[in-house]
Amino acid sequence: MGRDGLKDLIRTVPDFPSPGIQFRDITTLLADAEGLAASVDMLAELASDLRVDKVAGVEARGFIFGTALAIRLGKGFVPLRKANKLPVECIGEDYALEYGEARLELDPSIITADENVLLVDDLLATGGTALAGARLLRRAGAMVSHALFVIELPELGGAQALADAGLEAKALLQ
Ligand code: 5GP
Repeated sequence: MGRDGLKDLIRTVPDFPSPGIQFRDITTLLADAEGLAASVDMLAELASDLRVDKVAGVEARGFIFGTALAIRLGKGFVPLRKANKLPVECIGEDYALEYGEARLELDPSIITADENVLLVDDLLATGGTALAGARLLRRAGAMVSHALFVIELPELGGAQALADAGLEAKALLQ
């Protein structure tokens, strides 16, 4: 399956979670065996020339692709969690979303100083989420230079925002 086939598996839901937002829903992609496998294959291809010690994913949809990619690359997985989920002392970053506010948290003890962590999420919009994730990982001592996404919404400027923070973004679909 190619990228066009992958695109056809993504459902657009108008006015979710608020009026005027066109939500790109990956549930339909996840449920398709071929599409799911192809998306992980393509992410692995994008990661093939990168130095990766661990893969980090953003809760919740970044966990799905991030974990699959980590297994494919033979690496460990680092969850970047929503607020108040971790049972241990953690560090947190607040950030603005396309709609609303949010916070990501990380247990810094699972990061080894100077290891290369590849950030993964399902979708790049403004870049606020990925930047908060990168800030957290860097505070824990990781080197974070690349982020992979299934979907990028180019009109929101996320890739440039990430580039300004030293993070190269790559996506399967725009
Ligand atoms: P950003 O922080 O880049 O503005 O927004 C990206 C974050 O919001 C990601 O964690 C992503 O899961 C979520 N998100 C925002 N818009 C959409 C959307 O249309 N579809 C999906 N699947 N996720 C979205």
